[in-house]
Amino acid sequence: MKIGFIGLGIMGKPMAKNLIKAGYDLVVYDINKEPMEELKAAGAETSASILELAKQSDVIITMLPNSPQVEEVVLGEGGVIEGAKPGSVVIDMSSIAPLSSRKIFKELEKKGIDMLDAPVSGGEPKAIDGTLAVMVGGKKEVFDKYYDIMKAMAASVVYVGESGAGNIAKLCNQIVVAINIAAVSEALILAKKAGVSPELVYQAIRGGLAGSTVMDAKAPMIMDRNFKPGFRIDLHIKDLNNVLDTSHSVGAPLPLTAQVMEIMQAIKLDGCGVEDHASIAKFYEKLANAEITR
Ligand code: NAD
Repeated sequence: MKIGFIGLGIMGKPMAKNLIKAGYDLVVYDINKEPMEELKAAGAETSASILELAKQSDVIITMLPNSPQVEEVVLGEGGVIEGAKPGSVVIDMSSIAPLSSRKIFKELEKKGIDMLDAPVSGGEPKAIDGTLAVMVGGKKEVFDKYYDIMKAMAASVVYVGESGAGNIAKLCNQIVVAINIAAVSEALILAKKAGVSPELVYQAIRGGLAGSTVMDAKAPMIMDRNFKPGFRIDLHIKDLNNVLDTSHSVGAPLPLTAQVMEIMQAIKLDGCGVEDHASIAKFYEKLANAEITR
């Protein structure tokens, strides 16, 4: 079985490497040549085009920024749909709009090509460790057939429902992460301004009900002034746009998500779009005229 992997960025590169480590035969493509060379050194073949990759692959995995890129790569001219064999599968692991997933699913179905939407959570560290959480939409029998491939990159792989359900789960994930980072920031700026050590407050509360994976990942980054992405503010804005579009269309008002979205818009104007989403803390630091340090 040959796997074609398209999109070798912060997430795709380590995920592709884990598939090689698990013994899969890999061919890779990215518009950026540098990660292609790195994957070649790790044992993958490289492809000159998406079409060539699709023709020789039984499974095509995409890990691209957003819906327009995935639609272009899969459905566009010279895209996966023109080269992939009937009976093959596209596993899109990018975080995209659920409606876009469903559109791609339907177009591929006409050609006898299966599709799963299988976005991930966990960020770069878990992509490197192969301990991502994968949430999957599509046909259950297709999920069962390709479970082992997804598990080679993940600690958990959960079937959520029909096409698009994986990306609905991912939007839910992004709500919890965004509001959680804002809550951690509010707590730590209070500690700072009250003259109590943010580090000791973090140590005191992390084991109680307030503790979370988000707190453990982001509080140390904020206190160390380390805003290297990770997960960029720009990508989180993209996800919250998809959240709010979806929530408005299904009739689920999300007031806290809307507020964090505006916080992200504000720090983007300060040049933080390319930084890790831990830089949400900078919004509070500006309001309080103080810096959260250990
Ligand atoms: P990234 O920008 O680092 O990587 C995207 C890659 O896609 C780049 O290498 C780019 O060159 C390539 N690409 C773009 N357009 C292309 C095209 N037309 N053809 C071929 N290659 C193309 O992004 P990332 O951080 O790896 O994120 C990828 C996806 O995973 C996004 O949807 C993101 O929301 C999601 N995600 C990211 C994280 C994270 O922490 N970074 C965590 C979970 C999910």
